[in-house]
Amino acid sequence: MQSAASLLSSLSAAAFAGGERRSALGARRRRVKIRRQMLGYVCISYLLDSVILIILAYNGTISPLIAPSYLACGLGSASAFFALSESGINDRFEDPYLVMPQATIGLTIMLTFAWLAPQAGVLFLSNLFIVFSFSSLRASARETAAIWTAMSVGLAVLFLGTDKPISVPHDTYIERMATMMDFAFTIGRCMFIGIFSNSLRQSLYDKSVQLKEAYRRIEELAELDELTGSFNRRCIMRMLDDEIARAHRAKAPCSIALIDLDWFKRINDAHGHPVGDEVLRTFAISVFANIRGIDRFGRYGGEEFLLILPETGPAAAVQMLDRLRGIVADLDWSALSDGMAVTISAGVATITADETADSVLARADEALYVAKEAGRNQVACA
Ligand code: GH3
Ligand code: MG
Ligand code: MG
Repeated sequence: MQSAASLLSSLSAAAFAGGERRSALGARRRRVKIRRQMLGYVCISYLLDSVILIILAYNGTISPLIAPSYLACGLGSASAFFALSESGINDRFEDPYLVMPQATIGLTIMLTFAWLAPQAGVLFLSNLFIVFSFSSLRASARETAAIWTAMSVGLAVLFLGTDKPISVPHDTYIERMATMMDFAFTIGRCMFIGIFSNSLRQSLYDKSVQLKEAYRRIEELAELDELTGSFNRRCIMRMLDDEIARAHRAKAPCSIALIDLDWFKRINDAHGHPVGDEVLRTFAISVFANIRGIDRFGRYGGEEFLLILPETGPAAAVQMLDRLRGIVADLDWSALSDGMAVTISAGVATITADETADSVLARADEALYVAKEAGRNQVACA
C-alpha cells in the first residue's frame, strides 16, 4: 500500500509536472503567435516589392515575369515556414523561429533575382539590409557572422564573377518613382524590425518583472501560516534563533511568550470547526494590531502561538501579554457565533545568558502550564 507521504509527494510531483506542461504549452502558443506575426510581415514585405516590380515591368525596365516569380518565391518560402510552425516541427530546433534558414532563403532569393533582373538590382540588394536586420533579431554572434559572410560571398560572385549591369533605375519618371518607393519602403521596413525587436525586448522585461513578483510571493507563502497569516512554525523558530543570537550579542533583554487558546477543543465542538478557524484568524489579527514592529508573531502549532518580544524584560513582557489577554477576553466573540467567549493563557520567559531556543521554550511552556492550572485566562512568568 502506498504511504501517505509517498502519495503526497507523487501528487505534488504530478501537480508540478502538470504546471510545467501548462507553462510549456503557453510558451509554445506565444512562440507560434510571434511566428505568425513575423511571417505575416514577410508576406507584406514581398507584396510591397512586387508592387514596385510591377511598376518597373509596366515601364519596360524588367521582364513582366519577374514580379510574379519573385512573389511566388517569397510567398512560397513564407508558406513553407508557416506550415513548419503550425505543425510544431519548428519546436524541435534550438531556434524555434528558424531565423537562420529564413535568412538564408531570403538572401538566396535576393541575390538570384538581382542576377535575373539586374536592371532593378538596387531593389533586391537593398532588401539585404532587411534580411540582415531580421536575422540579427534572434541570431547569435556566430550566426550573424555566418550570414554576413554568405552575403559577402554572394555579392562578390554577383559583382565580380559576372558582368551584370546591376542598376538603380532612374532613366524615366516612373523608374525614379519606383526607386524612391523602394528606398522609402526599405527604410520603413528596417525601422519596423527595430520597433518589433523593441517590443520583444519589452515583453521579455515584463516577463522578468512578473517572474520576480511570483518569486517574492512564493517566498512569502513559504514563510506564512495559511490560516492566520502569521509566520509559520519553521519561520518563527528561525526568527527565535536569530533573536536569541542578537540578544546575546547585544547583551539586551529578549522575552518570549507561548500563547494558547483556552478550551479550544470545546469551541470547535460547540460552534464548529469553521468558526474555530475564524477564531484563530481573529485572534491573530488582534495580536498583530497590538504588537510593535520589532515583535515577531508566529503559529507554533494548532491553537498555540509564539510571540517574540526583543528588547523586552520580564516585567514589560508580562504587562504586554496581560494587556493582550484582556483585549482578547473583552472582544465581542458572540459576533462570530452566539454565546461564544474566547480567552487565552500565556507563559512568558526571558532569555538568560547563553540560553538556547529549546531551553527558553521549555521554560515558557512550563509557565503556560502554570497559567492553565491556575484557571486559564492568565499570564504566568517563568
Ligand atoms: P486547553 O485550554 O487546555 O488548551 O484546552 P484546549 O481544548 O484548547 O486544548 P486541546 O489541546 O485539548 O485542543 C486543542 C484543539 O485545537 C484541538 C484541535 O482540534 C484544535 N485545533 C488545532 N488546530 C486547529 C485549526 O487549525 N482549526 C481549528 N478549528 N481547530 C484547531
Ligand atoms: Mg488550548
Ligand atoms: Mg494547545
